[in-house]
Amino acid sequence: MSPGDPSPFKINNAGSKNKKWLLTCDHASNRVPYHMDNLSLSPKELSRHIAWDIGAMGMANEISRILDAPLVSGNYSRLIIDLNRPISSPTLIVDNADGTPILANTNVSHLEFSERVDYFHTPYHNKISSMLDLRVMDENVPILVAIHSFTPLLNNTNRPWHIGLLYEHDDRLVEPLKEAILSKNPELIIGDNEPYAIRGPSDYTIPFHGQDRGIPHIEIEVRQDLIETQEKQIIWGQRLASALISVVNSIPPMKIITPKT
Ligand SMILES: [Zn+2]
Repeated sequence: MSPGDPSPFKINNAGSKNKKWLLTCDHASNRVPYHMDNLSLSPKELSRHIAWDIGAMGMANEISRILDAPLVSGNYSRLIIDLNRPISSPTLIVDNADGTPILANTNVSHLEFSERVDYFHTPYHNKISSMLDLRVMDENVPILVAIHSFTPLLNNTNRPWHIGLLYEHDDRLVEPLKEAILSKNPELIIGDNEPYAIRGPSDYTIPFHGQDRGIPHIEIEVRQDLIETQEKQIIWGQRLASALISVVNSIPPMKIITPKT
């Protein structure tokens, strides 16, 4: 890493006393470490959804502000290493992303692979683990909310959903959150495990930090064309924060449950 490169992750609202929530944004940034020369990609390619979740961080920031919740976010592009993949995943470091060859990721050496894991992936997830440990030790049942965004068009297929609510085995938050969102915005199309479903072997943040711990959790995906501008990110952040608040206010306190396998 070069002296000007920032740390692998960022925490907003770190000092918050609110132990009820922990927010994550795995794909918040399209930054590439200085020495990697933008992975030989043009600025145009690096601004595409292949490098990051467009609009997600602005929206996550607003949710974090309203909930007074800490937000842990990745500080580098998913093309360096995907923080939402287990280390064993074949798509942890991709050499082709939605049709764009990532030449800098072909034939990554063992050393380079371990360096990327050690510098980017491990510290990010260790931080989330330690923050959740602290909350559980204090006898809280923290709610983990993972914020993402998805591209409206993939493989020439339009995706009609405005939002997706994603989970695998624990669906405690899904229906209440859906109802809370629709009660104020009945026109929205909400995907239930769409545009894709969470699966333990291919996803990481929710299965590892949420499901394996048995704490309530949800992954929220918003379509990228809806949150292209800062103004829209704020509107969506407010909409989702208000739905999350109304969910915790309307259902009985949630417990830590033994994960199903
Ligand atoms: Zn994402």
